[in-house]
Amino acid sequence: MKLTRLASVATAMTLTVALAACGSSEKTVDQQASGAADASGALIGVTMPTRSSERWIGDGDNLKKQLEAKGYKVDLQYAEDDIPTQVNQLDNQITRGAKLLIIASIDGTAITTQLQSAKENNIPVIAYDRLIRNSPNVDYYATFDNFKVGVQQATSLLVGLKLLKEDGSKGDAKGPFNIELFAGSPDDNNATFFFNGAMSILKPYIDNKTLVVKSGQTDFKTVAILRWKPAVAQDRMENLLTSTYKGGTKVDGVLSPYDGLSIGILSALKSNGYGTAGQPYPVVTGQDAEVASVKSIIAGEQFATIYKDTRKLADTTVQMADAVLKGQKPTTNNDKDYDNGVKVVPAQLLDSVIVYKSNYKKELVDSGYYTEADLK
Ligand code: BGC
Repeated sequence: MKLTRLASVATAMTLTVALAACGSSEKTVDQQASGAADASGALIGVTMPTRSSERWIGDGDNLKKQLEAKGYKVDLQYAEDDIPTQVNQLDNQITRGAKLLIIASIDGTAITTQLQSAKENNIPVIAYDRLIRNSPNVDYYATFDNFKVGVQQATSLLVGLKLLKEDGSKGDAKGPFNIELFAGSPDDNNATFFFNGAMSILKPYIDNKTLVVKSGQTDFKTVAILRWKPAVAQDRMENLLTSTYKGGTKVDGVLSPYDGLSIGILSALKSNGYGTAGQPYPVVTGQDAEVASVKSIIAGEQFATIYKDTRKLADTTVQMADAVLKGQKPTTNNDKDYDNGVKVVPAQLLDSVIVYKSNYKKELVDSGYYTEADLK
């Protein structure tokens, strides 16, 4: 599928270049009055955290394609999760005269200086997917409902343990079940939202001892995995298995906030004897509906993931960028929850969906996100 996507991106780019060469579109009187005459053909800087996770590649491709289709020039950069690299990329985009920045930050607190310089150069900033913290110079935020994503992750864990049914009604199981918790990168604002959302659902079950976090590790800082690194999650799971689960006690469920971590966690489980008929994998959750995890769900290994349609996020962000550059106010649907420490950033939140083996076809294939062949 990647090849198909690349080919269509290449075609779209060629078309855009060809269209751009035909001359810019006519501007309305309103646009001219608002100074929007400057917007067409403007350079937009897009910075993404890393290519090591599929989702960000899709995000970058979709943003570039859609912005170019609107006649903008795009500088798309990936920083391989290295903060100084992202800082340099932003400096370069500002120097090159970008008229707007779309940033999916690595560390939401580490780019304050660049944002200040953007402000001084009248460059608006849209935080993409991840909130940028501790700066007044963030204009808008496009993301999913991150608290709800956490709620969905915990819900899928309960469904896997049969404490709930997929329709949300009460399941037949009683427990108690042993579970372990993982959270995302502590410098990514989303990680806290996912964890708090998940704990809002799990806490009553932990309090009444239906769920037992056997290791006792329930604190966000203790369970967080810096930079969302699969290998670090794998190591932590190995350590939990050898410290807490020796002597025959089994882990029944693992709250994992991201598919990459889920794959690492499943590897640790496999090398400790799980994944056989006598000792099936525990219920492992996820996020992003990455190909490897959807395949794993189909194979009955990972239990569920959360599908966030990154095409829609790109679409929303492009509409925001276009509005801002035309001097208009973009649409937002949450102007209260995303306080970045200095200001509440107006946000547009999108919906996510729990994907199980039972609905992956409907959600992922019928929607055109993947082809059936991608998942073979
Ligand atoms: C994103 C998730 C992703 C994670 C790791 C988060 O900020 O919202 O979709 O799983 O980063 O890349």
